[in-house]
Amino acid sequence: MVWHTLTLEQIFSLIGTSPNGLLDEQVAGLYEKYGPNELLEKKRKPAWRILLNQFADFMIIVLVVASIISGFVGELTDTIVILVIVLLNAVIGFLQEYRAENAMAALREMATHHSVVLRNGHPVTISTVELLPGDVVMLEAGNIVPADMRLMEAHSLRIDEAALTGESVSVNKHILVIEESEIAAGDKLNMVFKGTLVTQGRGRGVVVATGMNTELGMIARMLQGEDVQTPLQARMADFGKKLSYGILVICAALFGIGLWAGQQVLPMLLLAISLAVAAIPESLPALITIALARGAKRLAKNNALIRKLPAVETLGSVTFICTDKTGTLTQNQMKVAGTIPNPIQAEALPGISLFEMAQALNHDVRVGAKDNLLGDPTELAVVESVAHRLGFDQLKEIITGFPRIAEFPFDAIRKCMTTVNDLQGSLLLLTKGAVESIAPMLNNEVEAQEILKQAAALSADGYRVLVYGFKWLDCIDAGFSLQTAECDLDYLGMVYMADPPREEISKAISECKTAGIRPVMITGDHPSTALAIASQIGLPAANSKMISGVSLNKLTPEEFASEVENISIYARVSPEQKLRIVQALQQRGQFVAMTGDGVNDAPSLKKANIGIAMGVSGTDVSKETAHMILLDDNFATIVKAVKEGRRIYDNIRKFVKYVLSCNGAEILTMFLAPLFGLPIPLLPIQILWINLVTDGLPGLALAGEKAEKNIMQRPPRQPGESLFAGGIGWHILWVACLMAAVALGTQAAAIHFQSGHWQTMVFTVLSISQLGQAMAVRSETQFIYRHGLFSNLPLVLTVLFTFVLQLVVIYLPWANQVFKTQPLTLVELSMSILLSAVVFHAVELEKFLRGVNRKVTG
Ligand code: ATP
Repeated sequence: MVWHTLTLEQIFSLIGTSPNGLLDEQVAGLYEKYGPNELLEKKRKPAWRILLNQFADFMIIVLVVASIISGFVGELTDTIVILVIVLLNAVIGFLQEYRAENAMAALREMATHHSVVLRNGHPVTISTVELLPGDVVMLEAGNIVPADMRLMEAHSLRIDEAALTGESVSVNKHILVIEESEIAAGDKLNMVFKGTLVTQGRGRGVVVATGMNTELGMIARMLQGEDVQTPLQARMADFGKKLSYGILVICAALFGIGLWAGQQVLPMLLLAISLAVAAIPESLPALITIALARGAKRLAKNNALIRKLPAVETLGSVTFICTDKTGTLTQNQMKVAGTIPNPIQAEALPGISLFEMAQALNHDVRVGAKDNLLGDPTELAVVESVAHRLGFDQLKEIITGFPRIAEFPFDAIRKCMTTVNDLQGSLLLLTKGAVESIAPMLNNEVEAQEILKQAAALSADGYRVLVYGFKWLDCIDAGFSLQTAECDLDYLGMVYMADPPREEISKAISECKTAGIRPVMITGDHPSTALAIASQIGLPAANSKMISGVSLNKLTPEEFASEVENISIYARVSPEQKLRIVQALQQRGQFVAMTGDGVNDAPSLKKANIGIAMGVSGTDVSKETAHMILLDDNFATIVKAVKEGRRIYDNIRKFVKYVLSCNGAEILTMFLAPLFGLPIPLLPIQILWINLVTDGLPGLALAGEKAEKNIMQRPPRQPGESLFAGGIGWHILWVACLMAAVALGTQAAAIHFQSGHWQTMVFTVLSISQLGQAMAVRSETQFIYRHGLFSNLPLVLTVLFTFVLQLVVIYLPWANQVFKTQPLTLVELSMSILLSAVVFHAVELEKFLRGVNRKVTG
């Protein structure tokens, strides 16, 4: 369609809408016709594919084939049991993967955007999915354009169309009709397109295409949605591969030894393959995904929405949290505490000073359908207070009576905004902003110095100060620009407002400090305001410094890098400087979480190790680039998320420890027995059984383990540190050796005492030892009874259930036939349980010795 060649009136009549947007009664019909405004989702993996994938593993296929062959020549029951176990294993694997997929899809769905549209002539906020052709949409810097639109208004509107055209330089937009019809999307300067970014200015447009009918839909380009492997998953996949080769070599050796000792080929082959299947930790990648995805779900419940899964595991490594002040550390409930008008000034209207007029006109606050005010908290505070003084009706009269004819919207670099209103023929230019921005624009330099002093004093009390200036214009001509507008102003007055810190912040800050994390405040506010608020919440660290954006600019990269770790407060910085801060900290080896809400924050959010956007006040662009979104904009939520991240990582280490030590024990037992002159301890079915009941379920339950008590009293984990750091590799090794030694010892003793049940005893000892290990690894530092025996009920129930299953396998006659077990006597059972307890107690003892060691060295 050639929307760009039509006039707005033509478009309105073609679509059946008006400058006031759609009417309520049109919405249902149009929705029926056009459907939701979304691009077709990348198809999710269907359940049957996930199930089938479970069998696609090479070793599983070999096992199935070998068991079928052995069924033909040997015992059919064995084959059936092996197939059932493989099937059960596949079902567990399927459930794990399916749940992981579901959790990921749910996470993706949570990150929807909203748009402000006119419906029945009033601004309302709706989900972008509900946008329809004919809707009139407001655009401002930071928005992702939600649909294809023909522009009705454009004020300094610049759009980054890289998503569509690949061109990353923003383009200026206008509202004039373009005659030429056959032009590329990038040249349609009176239109904006779905998926592109508003980098500057403000605008308004009428939607002409939604969903798959948009330019973006046509080229079916997806903005997001691909699943990436987290560093941990990648490392684990790599490690798993190497481990598998090792295990295959051992199993091949076992096969050779068996043949050499005179065993038959097929049973020996089956045994070697079963051992390989049991020992290869194929469940680990799925378990890690589940732990991360479930962690992300829990984080979302706690108001931290994860957009990129790797953030879950890297949260635990954060050493610096660089945070905005307004809204994150403070309540974002600005209230005007007072105004200081310039005593010398004219009345604009009877009883209304020019200063009050300025407060009523220079802002982007909108009046909603129910006369509610919508907008940025700083401006809301001003407008609410002026409405209170003048009366709401008079305020509305002023806004509608003196229309705005030009403006330079607020941006965080200039720290001011300018409007021009038509006061019945006289043009009033108003500028408001930070005192350092306005003072140089004033005519009277002496007055400017006085204002700077006055504002500094107010800032020192924690107030945010806005200064107003004005001038009269004769006309707006071609020479009218930012440079000619924002100069030669007369001073009107200042408004100062308070925004108290959030209540929970002091506690969160002190928690950061014990956890080895440095909180850093980065604000656009005045240094004195920043210092006052920072001191109230106990943010500045001992000997830490404060620096302003201007001083920061004067530092060379080397000077800054040597200072950066000592700076706790950055004041009057622009978003661009945030990028410099992240880079300098990263250069010093720090792992940085950085918050941001504006469009200019996107580069620093992207560069930070964890970029955090604000869910309430954040722009679409910041949310799109962030790794995590704070649904409540609250700093305390970041600290909670870090704690949760540490817990999740701990738990991943726990089940890795558990699975690998158990698998190691299985392989050592099987491999070493013949070398010690003992018969091969277990049958293929028994090994597969142990793998089935002990691998998947306790591992899954370990992912839900509660946080260690000291979790926020220890330093952050080194990013990129090996999963086996901190003695985990050794732990796995010695526990596997001990477990195998206990199993082999049991075998040797039972054979020595001529028990005909030695195999069942080894089977039982190995299986129950593993349950003991599952209980013991639940805490790395505390005895289990201290950590809370029943605090992880699913795990305790799994352990009990597995124990009962083991008794079933030992004592029920049909199970004896299937698993080739014998009912143990009471003495044999008691001995087996006692011997199994060795591993549990040894792991508990390790915690004690580590504790003693920590006290001695620490
Ligand atoms: P924080 O980091 O604390 O959230 P910020 O970096 O978001 O703050 P900005 O909103 O960029 O701070 O504001 C910086 C300064 O610009 C403020 O101190 C104020 O003086 C001025 N300012 C803020 N909002 C406006 C506005 N709407 N119009 C004009 N000036 C403003």
